[in-house]
Amino acid sequence: MITNNNNPLAPSAALVASVAQKNAAPQVYDTAAIQKADSAHYLHPFTDFQDLASKGARVMVRGEGVYLWDSQGKKIVDGMSGLWCVNVGYGRTSISQAVYRQMETLPFYNSFFGTTNVPAVQLAAKLAQISPPQFQHVFFTSSGSEANDTNLRMVRRYWDLLGYKERHTIISRHNAYHGSTVAGASLGGMDGMHAQGGLPIPGIVHIGQPNYLEAGHGLTPEEFGLKAAGWLEEKILEVGPDKVAAFIGEPVQGAGGVIIPPSTYWPEIQRICDKYGILLIADEVICGFGRLGRWFGSELFGIRPDLITFAKGVTSGYVPLGGVMVGERVAKVLIEQGGEFTHGYTYSGHPVACAAALENIRIIEEEGLVNKVAEDTGPYLKQRFASLGEHPLVGYADSCGLVAGLNLVRKKGATVHENELFDEEQGVGMICRGHMFDNGVIMRAVGERMIVAPPLVMTRAQIDEMTDLIRLCLDKTHADVKAKGWV
Ligand SMILES: *Cc1c(COP(=O)(O)O)cnc(C)c1O
Repeated sequence: MITNNNNPLAPSAALVASVAQKNAAPQVYDTAAIQKADSAHYLHPFTDFQDLASKGARVMVRGEGVYLWDSQGKKIVDGMSGLWCVNVGYGRTSISQAVYRQMETLPFYNSFFGTTNVPAVQLAAKLAQISPPQFQHVFFTSSGSEANDTNLRMVRRYWDLLGYKERHTIISRHNAYHGSTVAGASLGGMDGMHAQGGLPIPGIVHIGQPNYLEAGHGLTPEEFGLKAAGWLEEKILEVGPDKVAAFIGEPVQGAGGVIIPPSTYWPEIQRICDKYGILLIADEVICGFGRLGRWFGSELFGIRPDLITFAKGVTSGYVPLGGVMVGERVAKVLIEQGGEFTHGYTYSGHPVACAAALENIRIIEEEGLVNKVAEDTGPYLKQRFASLGEHPLVGYADSCGLVAGLNLVRKKGATVHENELFDEEQGVGMICRGHMFDNGVIMRAVGERMIVAPPLVMTRAQIDEMTDLIRLCLDKTHADVKAKGWV
């Protein structure tokens, strides 16, 4: 109820105090008032504004570990780590304390004009230590999108400095996600994003994604991996090898639906990049910081990128931070031949964000979260998703580290390529997602593929809790589609 006369949306002082105590009883918010003000003033990202206004946004108010609570006191298992980022889980007091201390000491200073700050230096050195050996330098941004803008500027600058002024084209993949700025959305391969605002910008082209389910008919996964990597060579020859600057890809495509490539794919991509001298950019915004059971996903797939995009998990989302790890091949040219690089952001190397990242990485190390995913919870999640794969509605289920997905199908076939699919317009993925929301677990729908990427602190017991809820919601979805006569 409204108890604060100055601000009708604020919980009462007593509630604020109880939040501070953490172990508070369920809190009461005026959900309807918050929703009303939300739709009156707040334009949400990737949202149909009118549709949201008619339904009302769900109001999240608190998080602890792998759980969230909404304004109506409902407890939810966060199967998506916020938005692929809360790797160390919610409620980490040591991160809030690190942030508080840094704000008290030096809340901001820039890194332009020959100045620096201590957390940024410490974090740069730490990142050089935990990333693959070719990385000794970092360029900081405040998000993954900005970092990919930096990549675009940086790879073109690199080739300019070497005298190859034609080498400006970047090859990416359909259904890739590289952010939402003009460069990020252009590098990404989302048709819906390209359709708004005349994207992609010139000099960015796309090839098919290594999606075995969609395009691997008649091939083994290994054969298909080689075939899909071959599309890169075809595109290089089509554009002209002397015009291609770089290839960019997520080790495992995230927002596109957790597309886990066959084991043959990345080594062949590396071979092709090497053959034509093309820079390899690994967008590790999701795969970095332990998600795949390595510090960086590139290590799992045995590739040697020249640039790594990071964001999300670097701070576990507690405050915004992103950046580019710059490998020695590029760093050497920029440093020794470059003069001034006319690019940067006010908040590059923000001391508060860097302090949060340092504490976040310290937690990941102290709790051994990277190994835990590799050896314990990753294999366990795989096992649990394999058993979900036996559900009559699930035609395919796979995982890698702590990302996993399953495909809802109308009827299972003898092979995954013979599954009968639902019509897109039936929106079965969204029906299923609705049940998840109502039953206290967050799973994302990408078409009819349902995906999770839980916090890296999720225990085996919590994985059981999550997968039991998923199974319940699959049953409910199954009942719905039966009732509608779709199966
Ligand atoms: C989220 C994401 C981005 C964009 O990061 P923002 O911080 O939202 O700008 C870029 N690349 C990948 C792979 C992502 O998942």
